[in-house]
Amino acid sequence: MAAQAIFARGGHFVKGEAKDLNVGERSVTVRVGEKTHAADRMVIAAGAWSRTLAKQAGDRVRLDTERGYHVLFPQGHGLLTRPVCYTEYGFYMTPMADGLRAAGTVELGGLKAPLNKKRTEMIRNAVRTLMPAAGEGTSEWMGFRPSMPDSLPVIGRSPRSDRVIHAFGHGHLGLTMAGITGQLVSDLIAYRTPGLDLLPFRSDRF
Ligand SMILES: Cc1cc2nc3c(=O)[nH]c(=O)nc-3n(C[C@H](O)[C@H](O)[C@H](O)COP(=O)(O)OP(=O)(O)OC[C@H]3O[C@@H](n4cnc5c(N)ncnc54)[C@H](O)[C@@H]3O)c2cc1C
Repeated sequence: MAAQAIFARGGHFVKGEAKDLNVGERSVTVRVGEKTHAADRMVIAAGAWSRTLAKQAGDRVRLDTERGYHVLFPQGHGLLTRPVCYTEYGFYMTPMADGLRAAGTVELGGLKAPLNKKRTEMIRNAVRTLMPAAGEGTSEWMGFRPSMPDSLPVIGRSPRSDRVIHAFGHGHLGLTMAGITGQLVSDLIAYRTPGLDLLPFRSDRF
């Protein structure tokens, strides 16, 4: 069903932290704030935080996070015409509308530790050497890639219940794979046969 039709039938967004996922005989429930929501089917797509929700559904997944770092150099606008990778340091420099984006690297540091300044300094120093005209980096952030040991995502029904559908663990390529993942998830929700064999992506492969 198209999103428009879902909203016409009363569908709406609820923004908040989903907790206490519970799989029952007739529905799946989840709590957001004070309210408990029930659904015929529920998709777990909470990135690197999906492990907790999957566990509540009865599935233990080997999901961890590969933390990655980003620094924006506004003065670097127009210096590059395509993304360029500095392989020795593990990051890409990409021309963006608001400047030169230097982003990448992998840090295994879990979900709780704060941004590690040494990482952004390393990116800043390398860009200073490679692209002095890019000036100074103005903004920086760290993000949590949701990663599995074999670098494949988890896409498919929970082995415990048809009602729960997993869609997480896309690692370095979650933006790239968002469209196809959405298509596969909508097929599973509607009980259509997905156009791809989902066996390699099952949650209990480890
Ligand atoms: C520096 C960097 C560069 C990258 N570059 C690329 C790139 O060029 N191309 C590419 O394809 N990918 C790239 N990625 C990877 C990409 O960002 C991820 O694969 C992608 O964001 C994963 O999407 P997701 O929706 O599964 O998870 P997320 O984007 O992490 O989204 C999960 C969302 O769920 C929310 N959430 C968590 N727990 C709960 C809860 N209990 N209740 C409600 N909401 C919850 C979170 O707040 C978050 O908003 C990059 C990542 C980093 C860090």
